[in-house]
Amino acid sequence: MTTTQYKWTVIGAGPAGIAATGRLLDHGVAPHQIAWIDPEFAAGDLGGKWRAVPGNTPVSLFNEYLEASPAFRYREAPRFELAEIDPRDTCPLGLVADPLVWITEHLARRVAAVRGTAVELTLRARRWTVATDQGPISSEKVILAVGSTPKSLAHPGLREIPLDIALNPEKLAAQPLDGAVVAVFGSSHSSMIALPNLLDRPVAKVVNFYRSPLRYALSMDGWTLFDDTGLKGKAAHWAQENIDGALPSRLERVHMGSPDFSSRLDECDHVVHTVGFERRRKPSTPQWGTLEHNPSNGILAPGLFGLGIAYPNCAADPLGGAQFRVGLQKFMSHLDAVLPIWTRYGL
Ligand SMILES: Cc1cc2nc3c(=O)[nH]c(=O)nc-3n(C[C@H](O)[C@H](O)[C@H](O)COP(=O)(O)OP(=O)(O)OC[C@H]3O[C@@H](n4cnc5c(N)ncnc54)[C@H](O)[C@@H]3O)c2cc1C
Repeated sequence: MTTTQYKWTVIGAGPAGIAATGRLLDHGVAPHQIAWIDPEFAAGDLGGKWRAVPGNTPVSLFNEYLEASPAFRYREAPRFELAEIDPRDTCPLGLVADPLVWITEHLARRVAAVRGTAVELTLRARRWTVATDQGPISSEKVILAVGSTPKSLAHPGLREIPLDIALNPEKLAAQPLDGAVVAVFGSSHSSMIALPNLLDRPVAKVVNFYRSPLRYALSMDGWTLFDDTGLKGKAAHWAQENIDGALPSRLERVHMGSPDFSSRLDECDHVVHTVGFERRRKPSTPQWGTLEHNPSNGILAPGLFGLGIAYPNCAADPLGGAQFRVGLQKFMSHLDAVLPIWTRYGL
């Protein structure tokens, strides 16, 4: 059997993979030279898990991403609900997932879309072999945009409520939580959405285990302090009122270093873990084991590059503070900076 040969392969069709596929076409790569692999082609985790989550960036940044790539043909798109929102406001992530799905559908019709999963990457004879569950693909260059999953906490005696359920009021309402005592680990944007969602349920108590003071994003002239780690929008407002303001009656906070940490955790019967994400493991690279990306340019190996939440760009703010840049518009602008390198850095 002959393996089809491509110039570029994009693995993943979340916001980062969509940006990569669109930009390769914008740069004149012929559609038949691009393979695009994803099991769903449904806008990644944004489209699958986070639709009900209030976003933390203004709609103007979503519009910037959607309008950035001519290949997206966003100006020809039907009028989505996103267009009705004031660009300065935030919105549920589902409103940006809808245009992403529309863009994915027409991009996937142009390039060689493979509905499947990439399982292994091997570099041989100056080409990459991408082993997939649909058969092998041969490619000069590969962009990994496989996304990340929330870290979980395995603790005996605690039933974990997955983050995508804790962040979705409708799904949370289907959980039997009458009289539950729920531990919530973290002080992130997700924590400040999960906490009020849980307090809206008939739980007996929510105990928020934390390590550090809350951090708020602050708009400055042309840049944002704590842009990627600070609380924004509805989550920031709720935190100011309820965490740094007056704690609601059924919410308690316990510092992770406190001597009664273990006994307070023993009181709980459920847990929500809102601390951190980890890169999806597949596809593996057995020639090297786990490959780390260069956080300034996304390079993993010759001809192999990483983009998106799994391989975020680390950049300094004007005062020198380093941050990992995560978000749709940031993926696109990072791609614009690195693609001239990626087209030349290879075999
Ligand atoms: C709570 C929360 C709030 C957020 N708010 C905002 C916001 O306001 N603004 C903003 O811009 N961003 C926001 N984000 C960030 C944004 O949702 C994520 O950064 C984005 O979904 C990540 O995109 P991605 O393409 O890197 O990964 P994903 O969306 O995870 O997509 C990865 C894709 O790759 C596929 N894949 C994985 N492994 C393989 C494989 N081996 N083979 C083939 N396909 C594979 C997956 O199936 C998936 O479709 C938020 C995120 C969270 C969690």
